[in-house]
Amino acid sequence: PPVIDTSEISKMYQMGTERIHALRSITIRIQRGEYVAFMGPSGSGKSTLMNIVGCLDTPTSGSYVLNGKDVSRMTDNQLAEVRNREIGFVFQTFNLLPRATSLDNVALPLIYAGYSKSEREERAMESLRSVGLADRAKHKPNELSGGQRQRVAIARALVNDPSIILADEPTGNLDSKTSYEIMDLFEALYAKGNTIIMVTHEDDIAHYAHRIVRLRDGLVESDNVNENVASHH
Ligand code: ADP
Ligand code: ADP
Repeated sequence: PPVIDTSEISKMYQMGTERIHALRSITIRIQRGEYVAFMGPSGSGKSTLMNIVGCLDTPTSGSYVLNGKDVSRMTDNQLAEVRNREIGFVFQTFNLLPRATSLDNVALPLIYAGYSKSEREERAMESLRSVGLADRAKHKPNELSGGQRQRVAIARALVNDPSIILADEPTGNLDSKTSYEIMDLFEALYAKGNTIIMVTHEDDIAHYAHRIVRLRDGLVESDNVNENVASHH
């Protein structure tokens, strides 16, 4: 069964008297272990779709089944619980706590899961090791480079062993060289069987993914396997 299964998802926003149709009947299935890029021009619905897929918002109509569970009619509290368990978020701006060490930032999602402090630190350390940053565990974000900060954020996204990693413009604040290093890390995570979905408007970044879904005006314009990359596997 697919890990993500959306059926005819629509999203309307009401702005005063104006109704904005941000998504128009989006049907997408993503299998476990896929690496997918969502692309599209500004205003095409990428953020709206990511918010729904990431259980931050629900569709106006249509259904969304995540890991076998219909999440499209859940309350905010139920969604928060699913989010903590199922989804690892990576953001353009890293979203790290500035006063906390790498280790504490990575351990944060485990607090809700009810682990002891020593278990949290052990798991967070393991996750930092998996992104090559074990030697930066005691550093704070302002003592790290942009690429290192994003790797800490990726370690945090991985620490709960989520069903999907959802990355919103993960290289948007990084220079080209660092961006490609982060894409190499994603490639390694993909090779280990992680399911990755990233939003980007940069073609050269999207081409690291193995499937590219293009949105336009709230519709899926195209949905293609990326032959260049897929042929390596
Ligand atoms: P958010 O996820 O915050 O809604 P946006 O999708 O609006 O982000 O885009 C993030 C940034 O990238 C913004 O500064 C936006 O102007 C820019 N951006 C978005 N799409 C494009 C595009 N097709 N070409 C150039 N810049 C874009
Ligand atoms: P993208 O991420 O591709 O830039 P969005 O999903 O942010 O696209 O936006 C899709 C459409 O929905 C746009 O027309 C945008 O102006 C509108 N929109 C997005 N969020 C809201 C909101 N909270 N309220 C009203 N309109 C919104």
